[in-house]
Amino acid sequence: MDAQLGDDAAYHLAQLIRIDTTNPPGDETPAAEYLAELFTQAGLEPELIGAEPRRKNVIVRLAGDGSKAPLLLAAHLDVVPHEPARWTHGAFSGEIHDGYLWGRGAIDMKQMAIMCALTLIRLKQEGARLTRDLIFAGVADEEAGCALGSRGLVEHHPERVRAESALGAAGGFTVRLGGARLDPIGTAERGVVWMKMRMRGSPGHGSLPRPDNVVGRLGAAVSKLVSTRLPHHRTAIVERYLKQVAATQKPPARWLLKNLYVRRIADLVLAKLPDAGMRGAMQSMLSNTAVPTVLRAGAKTNVIPGEADAELDGRTLPNQTSAALIAEIKKVVEDEIEIEILRDLPPVENDPDSPLCALLADAIRRHDPGGVPVPYLMPGFTDAKSWSRLGTRSYGFMPVRFPDDGVKFGDLFHGHDERIPVDGLKWGVNVLYDVVKTFATT
Ligand SMILES: [Zn+2]
Repeated sequence: MDAQLGDDAAYHLAQLIRIDTTNPPGDETPAAEYLAELFTQAGLEPELIGAEPRRKNVIVRLAGDGSKAPLLLAAHLDVVPHEPARWTHGAFSGEIHDGYLWGRGAIDMKQMAIMCALTLIRLKQEGARLTRDLIFAGVADEEAGCALGSRGLVEHHPERVRAESALGAAGGFTVRLGGARLDPIGTAERGVVWMKMRMRGSPGHGSLPRPDNVVGRLGAAVSKLVSTRLPHHRTAIVERYLKQVAATQKPPARWLLKNLYVRRIADLVLAKLPDAGMRGAMQSMLSNTAVPTVLRAGAKTNVIPGEADAELDGRTLPNQTSAALIAEIKKVVEDEIEIEILRDLPPVENDPDSPLCALLADAIRRHDPGGVPVPYLMPGFTDAKSWSRLGTRSYGFMPVRFPDDGVKFGDLFHGHDERIPVDGLKWGVNVLYDVVKTFATT
């Protein structure tokens, strides 16, 4: 453990948190400039790139001898909005209370930006002889779809960010389950299928009831979707995850986890799980999901509309397609619907046995004896979707060790009182530095 590296990470993360990059509107440029200044001071040559002056990305490259392919270290600089009244300490305070550094972006994911930046700077200062280029991308706009961030970079500046592999959101944090300490490494990510589900019916006067009233039918359809779990699908990554997690548990949890694909067992386990976050996470690994998020129907109290629609946030498992998801939705709804796809991003899946992934697991075992690295499927959406368009294999790895005090990464992610354990951050930056140095010098 290098204490200086840890102290620097805590200091600079507090500074970066104090720069408000809430998206919308974003305003990431001052955060990109803060990092660029650190790089410049270290003798590196960062670039600020972006179509909009207030939405810049910062890119920097530490050159290797080119004998191996580049590694991209990626973090987004924007953060999601917060409700000030629900926070114990200011969301942009960067203050330390009870061993935690507080603020929006503390774990999603300004900490990764700082850990990556300091790793690169340290390697530059050491004059490390690298076999591969290391690229850092601190990007804008991840929380609103990546158009001005990773997606824009991939489309307009691919040579700046092209890499064989990448480290980014969102694994590496401690999960405690039945006495075991797990360190998930993100090796796959579900697909995104945003949809508009439309229904048509006969319009009419509000004084004359009609059984085919489209408002009622849409309500029924949405209600069915909310209460129905779509069919289970086996995937290699989840099968492996469940097997490895099961091995850390005592019976009957061990047996139940291993057999979670069996519908009746999953129903039993999911119903018993006390933690809603954990329940959602389990469900997201077993089936595709389609969550209604927006409803539109009617404009006048005395008119039955002829049309109504709902927007659905669909997510697909590896090896699943938007067409397969739509077929599953139609089966549940059992009514005449049209589905228009608004956005379709396929799932991403990377080799959990690659040399880089093996290195990540090994680093976890060395730095966190007793911790169990497990490859996992990320339920959400990250910049990895963009990088994968250039053939980059992204792993979710932003190491932070959480103490056993009841504070959980999953609750803080987009939650109130987002904060990071200071010791866990100091640990994390050392782990990341170790991994990157090993991967880029051997
Ligand atoms: Zn986020």
